[in-house]
Amino acid sequence: MINPNMRFNIILLFLLVFNLSCSKRTKYNELDIQAADNNNTLNVIVLLGDGLGLGQITAAWYQKDYLHLQDFPYSGLVLTQSSNRFVTESAAANTAMMTGSKTNYGFLGIDPFENTLETLYEYTKKQDYKTGIITTSYMADATLAALFSHRKDRHQYEDIILDFYHNYPDFAVAGGQKHFDQRNDGRNLLDSLSQKGVGIFYSLSQMTTIDKLPALGMMHESLPPYLSDGRKDFLYQSSQKALDLFADKPFFLFIEGAHIDKAGHDTNIENQLKETLEFDKVAGLVLEYAKQHENTLVVVLSDHESGALTLLSGDNFEYTPNYAIDEHSGVMVPVFAYGPGAEEFTGIMDNTDIYFKIKNLIDHYLNR
Ligand SMILES: [Zn+2]
Repeated sequence: MINPNMRFNIILLFLLVFNLSCSKRTKYNELDIQAADNNNTLNVIVLLGDGLGLGQITAAWYQKDYLHLQDFPYSGLVLTQSSNRFVTESAAANTAMMTGSKTNYGFLGIDPFENTLETLYEYTKKQDYKTGIITTSYMADATLAALFSHRKDRHQYEDIILDFYHNYPDFAVAGGQKHFDQRNDGRNLLDSLSQKGVGIFYSLSQMTTIDKLPALGMMHESLPPYLSDGRKDFLYQSSQKALDLFADKPFFLFIEGAHIDKAGHDTNIENQLKETLEFDKVAGLVLEYAKQHENTLVVVLSDHESGALTLLSGDNFEYTPNYAIDEHSGVMVPVFAYGPGAEEFTGIMDNTDIYFKIKNLIDHYLNR
């Protein structure tokens, strides 16, 4: 008889071994990379649906009868477990996908022993990539914070924004202005960024006047509302703006649809559907861009599923949505990919493998 603790240790051991074997498998010389422009570096667009699982995708597909996600030629499944909990959250999950190391629940950009890890965002910055980060949440929220911050508490919002200030991208759009300009330390980091030459904008109409980098858009004082409560489609529009501003430079662009998760916590199917469909619209936008710029890899990710949403039998061809919980669940989540090396993102993989696959592809291009 295996007691629950022993069983958990066995699972962790399995994850570690699985993790190692997967990372070994994806050396760049084994990659079958599609034809791409000879002189181009690989552009990387990561689209992350926070809380996006197969229930959400199926419900969205049923609503529309079509999803842009269907046009991605490669897809696979991702194990999401953190190093100390079976059911993870955004900080540990995105740290795993952006650094290749599993970490503890709530940790940002550090391993379980609190060693600082280099994220793909930081790596591409060092390679002279243009970088962009966009979210429907506040800037200090865990998913984006896992790109630029290294801390063991995802809730230290003002400290996380200080990390942003020291490690900011060329283009960023989010909510959470109060963590910049209504701080306990009395500093106004928007003024400071402006003095460093960062163009700050506060609305979509102001964004249209921005014609150079770096630029930072503050779309809300704290957490932007749901689309159904009046949030503008800034996720889509600022993604388009980022692609325009990056022009022909190599870039790393990370876009998060954060409210799919929030609707899972609220167990609200209408909001989860609307937010998933908006996310899918952005997937269509970046896919179209990648089709026209063949040195662009698009990877659509999820950090974990939210709400344990299942679609139960309803009348005729209707379904009854059923949330098992107002928290995250531990099931695998899908990954979709398009572009050079996209065929790597198939089968079942660990979330840490996402890092190695993207990193190897970037390096393959840099070394060519
Ligand atoms: Zn959540």
